Amino acid sequence: MKGEAAPRPWNLVAELTYRCPLRCAYCSNPLDHASRRDALSTEDWARVFREAALLGCVHVGLTGGEPAARRDLAALVAAAAEAGLYVHLVTSGAGLDAAALERLRDAGLRSVQLSLQDADEAEADAMAGTEAHAAKLAFAAAVRASELPLVLNVVLQRRNLDRVPEIVALARRLDAERLELANVQLHGWALANRDALLPTRAQLERASEAVRAARREGRRPEILFVLPDYYADRPKPCMGGWGRKTLVVTPEGRVLPCHAAASLPALEFWSVPGRALRACWEDAPGMNAFRGEGWLPEPCRSCPERGRDFGGCRCQAFALAGDAAVTDPACVLAPRHDVVLDARRAAEREPPPLRLRGRQAQP
Ligand code: SF4
Ligand code: SF4
Repeated sequence: MKGEAAPRPWNLVAELTYRCPLRCAYCSNPLDHASRRDALSTEDWARVFREAALLGCVHVGLTGGEPAARRDLAALVAAAAEAGLYVHLVTSGAGLDAAALERLRDAGLRSVQLSLQDADEAEADAMAGTEAHAAKLAFAAAVRASELPLVLNVVLQRRNLDRVPEIVALARRLDAERLELANVQLHGWALANRDALLPTRAQLERASEAVRAARREGRRPEILFVLPDYYADRPKPCMGGWGRKTLVVTPEGRVLPCHAAASLPALEFWSVPGRALRACWEDAPGMNAFRGEGWLPEPCRSCPERGRDFGGCRCQAFALAGDAAVTDPACVLAPRHDVVLDARRAAEREPPPLRLRGRQAQP
């Protein structure tokens, strides 16, 4: 299927590895990540960075898994900076101390996003499947001591949603520039844990009020908070639209429109270094499958909101309705919105125990 002409991407998401010492129950990595190996060498990644910059990217997020699990992380930061990209590290903080951070900053790192699971240490460690919280706080202090901007990302789910005021207070103590309160995205392990993670509507309303109160104080950090798809009645414009703004390169070198797209069957994506990044972005059949508006089904095709949300998330449509080419069931107008209503009803019942992310294969 050939869609519209490929636009210029501006953001590269470089998934350096699926390895990670944490085992978060909401991890969006693929369920079979433990059997997947890092396929790209330092030089392969350096080429990806150069080609991404030529395609138009100005920003790279180095992510994973845990990017610090790559021993060549400083060399990768240097290569991305040399390519002219703004280098942003997305990390759990695991395996990074002040000295390592200094090396990364000297190599060209410009900002850091640290994930926290909770403001409560015991709950945070339970969600991460390991004792990590105290080390994360120390790492946050090291980021600020190095004068790098600090973004905190906290995945909100039913076990921490009632602690939004404590999370905001912690972000202020850590001197974060921005706090991303990211309602859990139900992909990968998170989808397997849906009934344990999905909050109730009452919890979301309390959290929304807590965010409004914190914003009214007019102090740092800037707070990002959007209602989760399952309660929003309209889907998000996932990744700003399929193959429109962001390109993702996986640890195996596959070039995708979003990190979850690997879960979609029957779509052909191409890989680096065997092909040029431009070809993978512009010409791969999978990349063009849902570009633009030509593929849209009803009711999206005749909906005035199609230019805003592009019919929602393809991976969510596949996960919930079994077909990536239908309207995202998160939309109240979708023929399969019933599955979202069922999930909301399930969230009102006692949640099942968490299932932690599977153990990693070692390199
Ligand atoms: S969500 Fe947790 S387990 Fe998954 S990559 Fe991030 S830190 Fe590691
Ligand atoms: S029908 Fe389609 S285009 Fe309209 S709001 Fe729902 S998902 Fe968006």
